Amino acid sequence: MRKLKFLYLLPVLGIIACSKDSISENTEIENLPQENVVNQNLTEVAYPKSKGIVSDIYYAGQKLPVAEIEGNYVYQGDIILPKSKAASQFQELVYEQGKAPTNKSTGRTSGMWPDNTVYYAIDSDLPDKERVYDAIKHWETNTPITFIERSGEADYVYFTPGSGCSSYLGQVGGRQDITLASGCSTGNTIHEIGHAVGLWHEQNRVDRENHIRIYYKNVRNGMEYNFETYAEGGYDGKEFTSNLDFGSIMMYSSYSFSKNGKPTIVKKDGSTFSVQRNALSAGDIQGIESMYPSTDSTPEPDEEEEEDREPGYINGEYYTMFGVTVLRYYDLWYYETRHHGYRQVKLIDDFWYYS
Ligand SMILES: [Zn+2]
Repeated sequence: MRKLKFLYLLPVLGIIACSKDSISENTEIENLPQENVVNQNLTEVAYPKSKGIVSDIYYAGQKLPVAEIEGNYVYQGDIILPKSKAASQFQELVYEQGKAPTNKSTGRTSGMWPDNTVYYAIDSDLPDKERVYDAIKHWETNTPITFIERSGEADYVYFTPGSGCSSYLGQVGGRQDITLASGCSTGNTIHEIGHAVGLWHEQNRVDRENHIRIYYKNVRNGMEYNFETYAEGGYDGKEFTSNLDFGSIMMYSSYSFSKNGKPTIVKKDGSTFSVQRNALSAGDIQGIESMYPSTDSTPEPDEEEEEDREPGYINGEYYTMFGVTVLRYYDLWYYETRHHGYRQVKLIDDFWYYS
């Protein structure tokens, strides 16, 4: 994995085969009624009882289908997108030279937590706080991210009761809730923290057709949008690694959003697979280490070294920086515009401009 200074909101990086997919078939689950399948807690949902109204919004330069429920934009079941940073129409993320960005919030997200540090607070009304402490401990033990109880910091995660399990994606600024219904386990909490530090779901990778098939006929009516790939959503979805990680804690189960107890996601050979909500996989951890390089092993480079590292980008690879997916090509950056193909772009003061 490459270490990038400006890496923002990577899709989950499934890198290596830590997959536990071949261990067992889900025969018991298949015979259970749907409520019990949901109770396996292998698919987190923010509002288990509401479908909401589905529409497309633009967020961080991508068109995403969301359900509006109780005033929130819900994406893929358990991700809450901040309304203040979403738009109903496509908005330019790359600007012509000399034109100042008109709306600094839309299409951009701070995404990463500075200094590998996530501040948090726990609602005193949250039952079973141990699952939060256990999940945090798991993150701290396995990744370079530190969690510090908030003492007045402006940007923080707030663990609070809710109708399901949900989280925002990356650092969004201000208080951002992770909701945990009583049925949300420690593993579900690890998953939701994954969203809060910037991980997406694993099964919506642009190249997922190489690994899985979606059986839409078994998907609950109105829930099909949860299975769109990131590529279908717009211009993102360029993955940084080559393999889908079935062992990722961010992977949906074979029975996610099933309406009839039959699988909604199968491997290419038609078989179901197991997913887990026990621990970050080796691939999850490697992805996180790439997004949040350990400050111990990576001393802050001075300006010159930073220049030297620049050629480390790989020719022909896509990188997502400051909310925009750009292509590295012969030491230059290119952006795929909607109507005019690729245009060369430059990053100036954290904004992208056409060259
Ligand atoms: Zn999720």
